[in-house]
Amino acid sequence: MTFDRIDMKALEEDLVRIRRDLHRHPETAWTEFRTTALIITELEKLGLPVEFGPAIHVPEKMFGMPSEAEMQACYERALGESDRPDLIEKMKGGFTGCITEIQGALPGPTVGIRVDIDCNDCDESDAQDHKPAAGGYASLHPHCMHACGHDAHTAIGIGTARILCAYRDVLPGKVILVFQPGEEGLRGAASLTATGRFSECDYFFGAHVGLKQLHVGAVAASSYGFLSSTKFDAVFHGLAAHAGAAPDMGCNAIGAASAAVVNMLAIARHHGGSSRINIGTFHGGTGRNVIPDTATLAIETRGVTNEINEYMEKSALRVLNGAAAMYGCTVETKFMGSAGSVVCDEELVDKTVKILAGVDGVDEIIRSADFGGGEDVTTMMQDVQAHGGQVTEMIIGMPLTAPHHNGLFDVDERVIGIGARVFASLALEVSHY
Ligand SMILES: [Zn+2]
Repeated sequence: MTFDRIDMKALEEDLVRIRRDLHRHPETAWTEFRTTALIITELEKLGLPVEFGPAIHVPEKMFGMPSEAEMQACYERALGESDRPDLIEKMKGGFTGCITEIQGALPGPTVGIRVDIDCNDCDESDAQDHKPAAGGYASLHPHCMHACGHDAHTAIGIGTARILCAYRDVLPGKVILVFQPGEEGLRGAASLTATGRFSECDYFFGAHVGLKQLHVGAVAASSYGFLSSTKFDAVFHGLAAHAGAAPDMGCNAIGAASAAVVNMLAIARHHGGSSRINIGTFHGGTGRNVIPDTATLAIETRGVTNEINEYMEKSALRVLNGAAAMYGCTVETKFMGSAGSVVCDEELVDKTVKILAGVDGVDEIIRSADFGGGEDVTTMMQDVQAHGGQVTEMIIGMPLTAPHHNGLFDVDERVIGIGARVFASLALEVSHY
């Protein structure tokens, strides 16, 4: 549909401005204080009710929280950078993200739309052929960068709200628009989902920009190949001793962790489909001449089905325990986040394909594309499906200048207007087909 009630060019320019502002001030999982305050401010300008803070979370499901010191530093940084400290104070403790409802004037379904808002733990390139660096909107925060396009997702969510507010008189049912924190590391969706907020959705849409080489204007109506994934830390406890005088009195935690790393990488692969394992960080020990009494590993497993991921996770736990025993150590694991695999609903994909055909700027529709990674939107999707609703996760195409999660990653900003039009069209038309 064409949105002739709105000056779309002006809207798109404003969304690009918002995206660049977010890009300059990226915030990692559970520290999206300034980001959330900006979103709330934009939604309130539209007269929309916004829920945020502890009310939209279930604390025991807020996985992979940063350390208290990190959280405090980010909180103070956000207070200094935002013009809405009053909002940020209500998110203290990591209660970031927000939800709004747009009530239509016509009877109809409840439609869930989800965008994610967090950034990656990585440093942005200052190369002059990297547009954000050349354009003066590269990240101001060390070791934080929007290198996955969630800044564009946030702008798309705000754009969707603006369009839908201009068409409320013809909007059937209501839209629940979710700005989810903590997607990276698969940490945020479970907390929001556990409140039961999405169980009333008849239809539920998510989308990611990029992911594969597509031109701007190509949109995949659904995705497959979500890797089920589990993230966890393993902490080895040994016994410290003098490395020269009494090595036999110690238990070497680094030795145990090293044996675990090598043998986790050697887990036999499952015949049923693809799997992954990565040990991403390894920290341990206290000094050169001390038998190390602690070592910590950050581990993730993935599988193309929930069963294959479970197999990888169980095998990793067996190796961890075996390696600990070999060195007289113990090991404890700490769950940090997870997401399952999900299959999009064909009936909703049919409707989505038909609606996409009428969206300005969309010139190629791919029925289904390989997502090729984990996404905790699947946690929300599974919950909607469990309550009888239908779901799909789309891919909004753009050429990739660099891989996702790389310091040179950049968004083709034309996807922002397209994404907003896609979500708004789906909400307005899904009940027509
Ligand atoms: Zn992403």
